Amino acid sequence: MCASAAALAAAFAITPAPAPATEAPPARPSLAPAGPRILGLRHAEGRTRVALRLPQAAGLRVFGLQDPPRLVVEFDGAAWEGTPPPPPPDGLVAGVRAGLVADGRARLVLDLARPARLAEAVQMPDPEDPAGQATVLRLELAYESPGDFEARAGWPEGQGPLAPAPPPADPRPLVMLDPGHGGMDPGAIRGEAVEKVLVMRFARDLAAALEATGRWRVALTREDDRYLGLAERVARAEAAGAAVLLSLHANTVARGDAVGASIFTLAAGQVDAETEALADSENRADVAPGDDRAVEPDAALRAVHEIGMRRALLASRRLGDALAAELSQTTPMLRGRAHTHAGFRVLKSSRVAAALVELGFLSNAQDLARLQDPAWRARAAGAVAKGVEIWAEDGAAQPFASLAR
Ligand SMILES: [Zn+2]
Repeated sequence: MCASAAALAAAFAITPAPAPATEAPPARPSLAPAGPRILGLRHAEGRTRVALRLPQAAGLRVFGLQDPPRLVVEFDGAAWEGTPPPPPPDGLVAGVRAGLVADGRARLVLDLARPARLAEAVQMPDPEDPAGQATVLRLELAYESPGDFEARAGWPEGQGPLAPAPPPADPRPLVMLDPGHGGMDPGAIRGEAVEKVLVMRFARDLAAALEATGRWRVALTREDDRYLGLAERVARAEAAGAAVLLSLHANTVARGDAVGASIFTLAAGQVDAETEALADSENRADVAPGDDRAVEPDAALRAVHEIGMRRALLASRRLGDALAAELSQTTPMLRGRAHTHAGFRVLKSSRVAAALVELGFLSNAQDLARLQDPAWRARAAGAVAKGVEIWAEDGAAQPFASLAR
């Protein structure tokens, strides 16, 4: 049976490095690596750990296959360096094979002694690479019951042993729009106005504006009024290979008066108390049973130490700047805070340039009137679409905006 790509991405999302590496990779020549290399394999405390060095940060695809049971790890890469080491005795891995797939992906196959799942994947900068490009990827495998392994195993959609995934029929990059909240979670409410409804209307207008440029494919994380966890929203963008994730919200304040739109991108340095409080209120949407809890603010900060995150962070910052610059020509921006940084869960990705747009305050009469005015929505959607276009010309955007992935 075949698990969906979204489920795979959610199940195997890379977690940020929790702390500086305690297991230093073995010494090796300081020449910049050209291809991936297996640094080591060991088994302890019931878990088998695999350490790899990659020439640069990469998105991972991991899936299990039956007959014989094995875990497959794939990422964009070049030919492997060195030969795989022998697996440790009594571990979960019985054999290791490394090779290239036809479309330029590096593939690592871990033949399993017992059914296992990927319990953790951590990618961190390689401290021995002076250029700061290489990363160390640590995979941790844990035992899984045969039934669970069988239920999960299968080739990803569109891929099989003889059929590598074809390039998308439409090569344009994808912009994923994420209307905030939904279902049991209405978001902000002020009188008759409900955030989840207003942001869905805006998402539809923005989709039309982006499609009108002819440059982008557009998709929505939710097409109707349903609840989606914050991690699931990011997972959907990543699984679809989106270049950009735009999360759409409207704000409210209980006290005082705040007016205007604002853009958030992921915080890398100090998060001031005000922004953190706001991030907490948005993250509180993540309360469904069994859902991922919102990321801790310090976890969001730690995440940016990962090289892939740094690249995404830079691209996201430029995206935020472009969006704020365009939107400010159309509508008032929150004073002094047109573009700020926060630890929103939905901004945390190493594979998608992400920004969260607060369109205005339901608690402010003028903002509320604007949000409910179709003419304003069309203008503001046009400004956001223009911002994405301008961003796409930025050098920092190129890893994300130049290709369909
Ligand atoms: Zn919201």
